[in-house]
Amino acid sequence: QLDPSTLKAFENAAAGHDGVLSDPTGEVLVKPCTAAEADFYQQTLQDQPDFAELMPTFMGTLHLGTSAQAAESTAAQEFVHASQAQKDQRSHGAKIATETAIVLENLEHGFSKPNVLDLKLGTKLYADGTALEKAQRLDKVASETTSGSLGFRISGMKVWNGESLDKYDKLYGRKFDAGTVKDGFATFFSGLSVGLKRDQAAELLETIEAEIAKARNALERLESRMYSASLLIVYEGDNAALETLMSGVSKTPRLQEKAPTRGEVQQSEDDEEDEDEDEPPIAYRVKMIDFAHAAWTPGQGKDENTITGLKNIEKQMDMLIARLTA
Ligand code: ADP
Ligand code: MN
Repeated sequence: QLDPSTLKAFENAAAGHDGVLSDPTGEVLVKPCTAAEADFYQQTLQDQPDFAELMPTFMGTLHLGTSAQAAESTAAQEFVHASQAQKDQRSHGAKIATETAIVLENLEHGFSKPNVLDLKLGTKLYADGTALEKAQRLDKVASETTSGSLGFRISGMKVWNGESLDKYDKLYGRKFDAGTVKDGFATFFSGLSVGLKRDQAAELLETIEAEIAKARNALERLESRMYSASLLIVYEGDNAALETLMSGVSKTPRLQEKAPTRGEVQQSEDDEEDEDEDEPPIAYRVKMIDFAHAAWTPGQGKDENTITGLKNIEKQMDMLIARLTA
């Protein structure tokens, strides 16, 4: 059903490599990836259905044609020849050279103005067997950022300010330390204080935190190793739309207390057909993404490296909530 000729560049990524595509409806993304990431999605769908719910819905793997391959390998060559300093300055990585892509649910779909926060997880950011030079470079970044101190760092974010979209690149999140990173969270969630009452803002933050805890609890029960995976948090950046969602006022009859009459049921079915089976709008979404260096590792115990990052993100959420409820 996905017509490759209709895919267009996905412009709204918060971080990561270029080359992600989106379908015309914006419901799905096509993300070029390593074979390892495609395998991880496939395996999780088969063997870890509980964890699959904490990831974007996986719709399959695509094998890209030769023209795409040629275009990408050119970009990859350029990237290889750029100096490390040039690479560090880029807000996005170049496209990765690969023949494989995964088709994923677009986590920004359904929002009017999605605010997006990408939190990179782990103190150790690479798997065993990584080339020494890369390992040393990633250890250095970790030691200079909250990756080292807290097991996570802000790797990118996009925040609507009422008029336009503010973009924060990977260098933004590298400047914080364990004490100041709360300012990054405050900036990301600043939209809440515009559209919502304090108790509504606190309620939304608590709901988001509960989703993060769900991911952590799953990892506590499972045996995996994930290096440089991310937690992606999206919430509605259209203040009026968010206020409507959080006030429980909705045009969708199924959310009303009172049972609808027969006529209303018929009407709502008609409406749904008219809307081309769109999902109702939502206030937030929280998922784990980026499994290029992830594996299920039976016998190795839980993934403390990733769990620590999630715990510290929960603490940041607690601090934000405490400020609102004080
Ligand atoms: P990379 O290996 O390039 O870092 P990621 O999987 O981290 O790849 O994706 C890069 C960015 O693309 C993320 O920061 C996020 O903003 C966006 N992204 C990735 N997957 C999705 C998704 N399923 N829905 C919405 N945005 C996504
Ligand atoms: Mn990433």
